[in-house]
Order: sequence, then C-alpha cells, then structure tokens
Amino acid sequence: MAIRKIILFPKEESALRKKSQPVRVVNRYVKTLISNMKDTLADHPEGIGLAAPQINVHSRVIVVRLGSKGDGEGEPSPILALINPEIIESKEPKKDFDGCLSFPGLFADTIRPHYLRVKGLDEWGKPFDRVFEDFDAVLVHHEIDHLEGVLFIDRVTSVNDFYHLKENEDGKMVRVPMSLVKK
Ligand SMILES: [Zn+2]
Repeated sequence: MAIRKIILFPKEESALRKKSQPVRVVNRYVKTLISNMKDTLADHPEGIGLAAPQINVHSRVIVVRLGSKGDGEGEPSPILALINPEIIESKEPKKDFDGCLSFPGLFADTIRPHYLRVKGLDEWGKPFDRVFEDFDAVLVHHEIDHLEGVLFIDRVTSVNDFYHLKENEDGKMVRVPMSLVKK
C-alpha cells in the first residue's frame, strides 16, 4: 500500500495547472504509479476518480470507479486505470453533478458530455477503444481535463451553481448553495 498525498486547491494550484506528458512505455515506474493511484483513491471512499497530477506526477494516467451516479449514489465498480486517454468522440452535453478530491467539500453543476468515446492504453499497456456513457462519461471527462491542467471550477458557468453538501435531520445529504454558507 502506498497512499499519496492529494494536492489541494488553491494552495498547490500551479501543480494542478501543469500539463501532463504522455506515457511512452508502460514500465515498472508506470505500474507503481497506477498502484499508488489506486491505493490513494481507495483511501478516499468519497472520491470516484483521480488523475496523476493530483498526486504531483505529470504523466497521462487516470484511475476511475465506474458505475457511480454522482451525489454518492450507485454502486461503483473496481478501480480502472487508463493510460494516455484520448477523446475521439464526445456528445450529449448536459448539466450534472461535479466535485473533485482536490476541492474537499466543494461541489457544482457543470456541463459535460454524457457520451464519450476514448482510446488509450489499459494498465497492461494494451490498446483500448471504448465508450463511456452517462455519469461514467462525466467522470472520465473530468479526469482527462486534469491532464490538461483544466479544473472543474473552470467549467462552472454561474456562481449560483456552486454548493456544499450538508446532512439534514433525516440523515440525507442536501445541497446548500455556496452563497448561503456562512464564512
Ligand atoms: Zn478532479
């Protein structure tokens, strides 16, 4: 187990903004990176995705837990690693839930594709070409953004779309618009 520290905004914004470089060979270094990223994501059950720059490694690697519906609903599957993910088709843009392990406690609605065709390499270095749909597409799109130094706050179109989550009397998580949160 090698859990890495997740870089936080705004303290380490420059590391989050740096563009990541393609992986040339899936060697031991890349395999260790993937294993560390999986351990780090597994250590954060509230998270469903992580990109290498979030642990201060600027290589094009992301890990995701597919099958979530956003807002913590759904049964996410085992962690999947994607190397050099490249979007070849993107459609069905819709507003949906967004959040990021580098922004603890902050959430927002963003517009992202709900159909995403991506090619790249799997964690064994084998090429893949697959389609992600619905919230899986949102998640993979969010993580690929990280490789370009793009953060979810960049995709929020109105300050009214930011919110925090708070537990109500019935133990349900409810949205509290950021404008109503006392500083
Ligand atoms: Zn993120």
